Amino acid sequence: MVVKLLGMTFTELQNWLVNELHQKPFRAKQLFTWLHFRRVASFDEMTNLSLKFRNTLKATAEIVHPEQVDRIESEEGTVKYLLKLPGGPAEAVLIPEPPRFTACLSTQYGCRMGCTFCMTGKAGFHGNMTSDEIVAQLYTISDTTDQRISNVVLMGMGEPMDNWNAVENALNIISDDRGICIGQRKITVSTVGVPGGIRKLVDMEKQYGLAVSLHSAVQSTRELLIPAARAISLSELRKDMLEYTGTTGRRVTLEYCLIEGVNDSIDQAEALADYSRGLPCKINLLVYNPVPGLDWKPPTEETVDRFTEYLYPRCQAVTLRRSRGGDVAGACGQLGASILTKENGTR
Ligand code: SF4
Repeated sequence: MVVKLLGMTFTELQNWLVNELHQKPFRAKQLFTWLHFRRVASFDEMTNLSLKFRNTLKATAEIVHPEQVDRIESEEGTVKYLLKLPGGPAEAVLIPEPPRFTACLSTQYGCRMGCTFCMTGKAGFHGNMTSDEIVAQLYTISDTTDQRISNVVLMGMGEPMDNWNAVENALNIISDDRGICIGQRKITVSTVGVPGGIRKLVDMEKQYGLAVSLHSAVQSTRELLIPAARAISLSELRKDMLEYTGTTGRRVTLEYCLIEGVNDSIDQAEALADYSRGLPCKINLLVYNPVPGLDWKPPTEETVDRFTEYLYPRCQAVTLRRSRGGDVAGACGQLGASILTKENGTR
């Protein structure tokens, strides 16, 4: 079996080199640096490795390189990348908000959470990404910009907690200071809150950020938007979040996408204020980006203002983010078109 080098943590790489290829342990640092710091595309570029060792690597391992099928830039600078990875088509996004440059990565081909407002949910599930496929998206984005990627969010296609082993490896790799070295606090894992998922992040005992796609603090409304929420009650989810905040000392971000006539009433705002009371959190309100083929709509400006004004005096921290990248379908909930296109047989 060909070894996928980009998806190996430093420790895994070292163990493999020593135990399988009978190399000295110091080779791991050399190879890891070529892969994740210099990010070279081929073994031939690894000039401080002997030719014999490079040939052994060529015969036993590979460095995955996504093919960039398309790159679409929105008016305000958000860039959506359509990539071809070994497992299928994938999408990733660069969100430039100087001094912050955020890469939004996918973790699965499609998603099985089935969120009714999301294009990826509509596309269905087509498989898990391997850790090297997750990491490779970041390097592809990084190679196309002169700016240093400062932040990473796992908020693209897929539910990260549903592909945990690959995600955990990818987190360890991209935060390793021998590689691209994105600080743990600059990396955010987003989840709808699958049972036991947040605990896995807590168990890492690291400082990664957590964003929970809440979208409603009323169970029935939440289940309407996120069918997978039937597996976890709002009170269980709150308990999990408290465990995260208690262990890491960090606040959790509650993502709340406002959708007309669904979760934008004052009753819903009241439920959200009640739910967030006593939970160290910030509430990130987003206005829904319409998805072709789905009936949901964004609320009017007045409704958005009324909702936010209700929350401001009642909650610790509320931000309203006009979602970026809507004009290139690179915004939250809009990824996944490449999978739908592939299914329709037009690509
Ligand atoms: S919103 Fe996230 S969890 Fe829900 S279907 Fe879309 S990608 Fe999956």
